[in-house]
Amino acid sequence: MPRGENQAGLLGGGDAGRGAAEIAATPQAHFDKNSGFAITADQIDLATLHPEVAFDDGKTLPHQVIRRQLLAGCTFGLPRTHQAARMAVMENALYVVATPIGNMGDITLRALETLRGVDLVACEDTRHARHLLDHHGIKVPTLALHQHNENEAAEKLIRLLGEGKCLALISDAGTPGVSDPGARTVAAVRAAGFKVIPLPGPNAAIAAMSAAGLADARFLFVGFLPAKVGARRTAIAELAGVDAALVFYEAPHRVMETVAELVELLQPQREIVIARELTKMFEQIERMPLAAAPAWLAADANHQRGEFVLVVSAPPPREGMDAETERVLAALLNELPVKQAAKLAAEITGQPKNALYARALEMKDA
Ligand code: SAM
Repeated sequence: MPRGENQAGLLGGGDAGRGAAEIAATPQAHFDKNSGFAITADQIDLATLHPEVAFDDGKTLPHQVIRRQLLAGCTFGLPRTHQAARMAVMENALYVVATPIGNMGDITLRALETLRGVDLVACEDTRHARHLLDHHGIKVPTLALHQHNENEAAEKLIRLLGEGKCLALISDAGTPGVSDPGARTVAAVRAAGFKVIPLPGPNAAIAAMSAAGLADARFLFVGFLPAKVGARRTAIAELAGVDAALVFYEAPHRVMETVAELVELLQPQREIVIARELTKMFEQIERMPLAAAPAWLAADANHQRGEFVLVVSAPPPREGMDAETERVLAALLNELPVKQAAKLAAEITGQPKNALYARALEMKDA
C-alpha cells in the first residue's frame, strides 16, 4: 500500500472538526473558507482529538477522508516561518491536476495541497513528475500512465479507488486530457462509479488566447493537426469554413510547414498570433497578418524553436455567394464528392476554391 511520509496525518471518521494535533495556531489566510476545501486551524476543535487511522490497519475507509496537511515545505506565498499548518478534506476520488507549462511557479495552492494529500500520483512520465514533486518537497509515490498503458493503468487506479484511496492524475505539462493522456482514464473512473475532481490551472491554449488580444467571440481548440500531409491539408481546408478563431498546437519541426499550409488554405484576410515558449525565459507572442508568418518564422532560427501555440483569427464575414455560383455548386454536389465539386465550381465560376469548399460542406450538412 503506497503511502507518502506526508500522509502520516490521516484521520478517520469523516469529521473535519476532529483531530488536529499538528495544526499550528496561525490560520492560513489565503484560502477562501467558502471553498469547502481548506480548513484553517481556528476552525478546528483542538480539544477533540481523534485517533489516527492508517490505510493498512484494516479499517474501512470512510468515503470522505480527512487529512492534516502541513505546508512547511512549500516555497510559495507566505514566508516559511508564517506558513500555517492546515487541514485538507481529501475525497476518495481521482483529482485531475493541472501543472505548469514551463514556469514552475504556475501551480495553484490547491494543486500543491492535493498532490501532498493523495496516496498516489498517476503521471505521464515518472521522472518528469518527480522533478515537479521534489521541487515542492512532495514525497507521494507515482505511477506511470501514458498513451501506451493508459487502459491498464486506469484499471489499477480504479482498484485503488475501490480500496478507498485518494489519487491524482497529472500530465507532463498543463491540463491532463488536453492533447495529453487522461481522457480514457477519466472516462473509466467515472464509469466505475468514482468521483473525478478537476483542479484547473495552466493550459497552453488558454494562455495563448489570453494574450492574443483577438476580439473574436468564438474559438475552436484544434490542438495538433494530423502529421500526414494529405490529412493535414484536408483538415485545414475544412477549418476554413468554421466561423471562429482557431487554436493549434504545433511542434517546432513542423511549424514552418503548417504555417505555410495555413497561409495557403485559409482566408488571406486572417491574422495569426504565434505564441512560443509561453511562461518560459524566451517567451514570444507575435501578432501579424497570416501571410507574413512564414517570413517571420524564417527571419530568425530562434523563431522556430520551442513549443508553439498558433492562434488564427476568425474568417472575415462571408459575403453572400451569388445565386449563380450557388446553383453551379449545388448541381455539381449532386454528382460529385465535395472536394471535386468545389474544384470544378471554382474553375467554372472563378470564385475562390476554399470558399466554395466551405460552402459545399455547409450545403452537404444542411
Ligand atoms: N496538456 C497541455 C496543455 O494543457 O496545454 C498540452 C500538452 S501537448 C502534449 C504539448 C503542446 O502544447 C506543445 O507541443 C505546444 O504546442 C503546446 N505547449 C505546451 N506548453 C507550451 C508552452 N510553454 N508554450 C507554447 N506552447 C506550449
